[in-house]
Amino acid sequence: MTATLATASYVGATILFILSLGGLSNPESSRRGNLYGMIGMTIAVLATVSGPQVTSAGYAWIIGAMVLGGSIGLYASRVVRMTQMPELVALMHSLVGLAAMLVGFANYIDPAASAEFSGAAKSIHEMEIYIGILIGAVTFTGSVIAFGKLSGKIGGKTLLLPGRHWMNLAGLLIVIWFGREFLHAESIDAGMMPLIVMTVIALLFGIHMVMAIGGADMPVVISMLNSYSGWAAAATGFMLSNDLLIVVGALVGSSGAILSYIMCRAMNRNFISVIAGGFGSEGGAPAPAGGVQPAGEVNPILAAETAELLRESKNVIIVPGYGMAVAQAQHTVYEITKVLREKGVNVRFGIHPVAGRMPGHMNVLLAEAKVPYDIVLEMDELNEDFPNTDVAMIIGANDIVNPAAEEDPSSPIAGMPVLQVWKAKTSIVMKRSMATGYAGVDNPLFYKENNRMLFGDAKKMLDEVLVALKSA
Ligand code: NDP
Repeated sequence: MTATLATASYVGATILFILSLGGLSNPESSRRGNLYGMIGMTIAVLATVSGPQVTSAGYAWIIGAMVLGGSIGLYASRVVRMTQMPELVALMHSLVGLAAMLVGFANYIDPAASAEFSGAAKSIHEMEIYIGILIGAVTFTGSVIAFGKLSGKIGGKTLLLPGRHWMNLAGLLIVIWFGREFLHAESIDAGMMPLIVMTVIALLFGIHMVMAIGGADMPVVISMLNSYSGWAAAATGFMLSNDLLIVVGALVGSSGAILSYIMCRAMNRNFISVIAGGFGSEGGAPAPAGGVQPAGEVNPILAAETAELLRESKNVIIVPGYGMAVAQAQHTVYEITKVLREKGVNVRFGIHPVAGRMPGHMNVLLAEAKVPYDIVLEMDELNEDFPNTDVAMIIGANDIVNPAAEEDPSSPIAGMPVLQVWKAKTSIVMKRSMATGYAGVDNPLFYKENNRMLFGDAKKMLDEVLVALKSA
């Protein structure tokens, strides 16, 4: 492929990626957005593989790597359950970071690559390598820890080392100092030592940063690592002089940064302290180890009684959470919604920005069940309507409806806006036990006078509610 054709393909792929991002910003156009993304990526891979920098001897390696990577991807997409998606995404971010790191080292020790540059261009190229490896290493270990926390392999509690901010500052100064040493190194051998020291510090910083972040703040970490992975890809693009990788990396990096900002706002956290790492723990006491003991009496309710309450309502708000995803109850939820709407009940869904385990988790599930978009509303759009609501039905949600976030300044989730379900005439919480949610904090909602607990698996309970509704 000629260089002009490769450039034209890259421009085409870039446009498709931008259209893809635009499409993904709305549930109705998201399928089209995905399609644009897939076509763009196919063009990008084909143009790169058939580009001038790939020799015929390299094809066997490339095809081998594509078959291996493609098979792992295909296998993962078949076996990974919807509830494991966030972990998978974190794992994929770690691979982007690892790739940036490895490309950086390979680029530095490749005599052909370094022979291309001299003078100021050489310094700029070395700076690209240094920064690329730095971002890659932080993204790599940060994402591995995020994977551990999301999959429950590492406890969700914050690890707060004494003097951690000073440690981070010292790390930063050492990285800057060794950056100077690296740029002034006379030979590749001499530059290797500062490069390795910086890499080790960056790897440790990635671990330290994510370990210091508390349970309910994990959504921000995920979107932030998403952003970091984009910048790592952009840095790789600079190292390899690949324009498309720079543009795509910048797109992912900036959209991830915007998402982080939105998530911060949703969680009422400070963006700057998020970027610095180690946030989310100053606001309140950490959740006690080993969970919390229930702090009062609760009023249980049966499925038949729930159906009765729903049938007699004029306004119902359904609040789905992580438990709905675990139970895969979204289809039954929609069946119930249809029955109620046929009876003239105004049913709407209230979506908290961090419900579930990844941004947009609930929207994806409800879209899969074909719930119409116009009855799926954001928290801000319907929080004021709870006082005029007869029943707020909470399906496998916990932290996102916890009044302690508003009422108890010492709570680890203090300050996080929540869906004010307790203001409804009756709230019904559907969950299996009195266990806490992801943040590990007790929920005073359960003990409120107007709250009822419908204990059991969400899918099973909703099936019973549906049968009771239909039989009446
Ligand atoms: P929570 O984790 O707070 O609560 C989920 C509840 O679902 C649990 O209390 C559990 O109770 C219940 N549950 C689990 N399985 C079932 C089942 N089969 N049937 C019925 N209930 C079930 O979830 P929320 O959605 O309310 O809040 C999300 C939390 O996750 C927030 O703290 C958020 O910060 C965090 N988070 C969000 C991310 C995101 O990007 N959205 C990413 C990472 C973390 P029980 O065991 O008693 O059934």
